[in-house]
Amino acid sequence: MIPAAFEYELAGSVDEALALLGRDEDAKLLAGGHSLVPAMRLRISRPSLLVDIGRLDDLRYVREDGDRIAIGALTRHAALVRDPVLAQHCAVIGAVAALIGDPQVRHRGTIGGSVAHGDPASDLTTILLTLDADFVAQGTDGTRTIPAAEFFLGPFDTALARQEMLTEIRIPKVAAGTYLKHVRREHDWATVGVAAARVDGRVQIGLTSMGPTPLRARSVEEALAGGASAAEAATHTADGTEPPSDVSASSAYRAHLAQVLVERALAEL
Ligand SMILES: Cc1cc2nc3c(=O)[nH]c(=O)nc-3n(C[C@H](O)[C@H](O)[C@H](O)COP(=O)(O)OP(=O)(O)OC[C@H]3O[C@@H](n4cnc5c(N)ncnc54)[C@H](O)[C@@H]3O)c2cc1C
Repeated sequence: MIPAAFEYELAGSVDEALALLGRDEDAKLLAGGHSLVPAMRLRISRPSLLVDIGRLDDLRYVREDGDRIAIGALTRHAALVRDPVLAQHCAVIGAVAALIGDPQVRHRGTIGGSVAHGDPASDLTTILLTLDADFVAQGTDGTRTIPAAEFFLGPFDTALARQEMLTEIRIPKVAAGTYLKHVRREHDWATVGVAAARVDGRVQIGLTSMGPTPLRARSVEEALAGGASAAEAATHTADGTEPPSDVSASSAYRAHLAQVLVERALAEL
């Protein structure tokens, strides 16, 4: 389908993008366009003004910052896959990015767009939640940092204010992490995805497509911390989740699949 009519502005800086967002109540930022444009074509999204931030190259970076890694919001998925800092200090991010869509999607889509879009089927959001990432958002009154655990509010709903832009993602350095994505066909979205990582000596688990937002499998984490085996802990995978039923899988199938993947992910850690 053809999108509804909209205006277009190219932002030359974050401040300019924020000012343009303030010009129109229905204005939206455009980063890689690989979630927003399909939604516009289906007329699920009808922004009156698109503020293109795709040329803000200052926001494309990955750098060490003490015991953290800072990633610019406009860093593309393909850049995450081959980044040497991530390869050395948090290789699971590149491994997850490599599983997103197809090469075209990975060469246009951005990590900030994935986070801001808030899709419960997104792969990057699950690993970022698992790692207790922090999201840096700039608004007209300054900058604030939002912990991942407080960021995802519902399907396609996040803690970002309307006139706020995500500028940076901050993650810890981790030695061990994995992400298992079950798909029906190559390049598909996850029927279920499971992330596992060792963060500060603790095993942390995240789930994709098991509820309205990316989720942490807290019961599994607590069982492991209490000395349970991987198999015992994995039986708690579906606790507190709301796996959807759709054309890809039933709710019960997703719950079973997630348990199997959690056990496998723990074996890989
Ligand atoms: C065919 C196809 C297959 C895909 N497969 C997968 C997959 O397997 N796994 C997966 O995780 N994803 C998948 N995606 C989604 C892809 O990863 C998108 O690139 C990503 O979700 C959005 O990033 P973007 O830069 O394209 O954002 P855009 O589409 O430009 O924007 C998405 C939303 O975020 C907002 N936004 C963007 N950047 C910012 C910012 N810096 N601050 C505040 N708001 C912002 C926009 O206003 C918009 O509402 C797929 C997409 C397509 C088209």
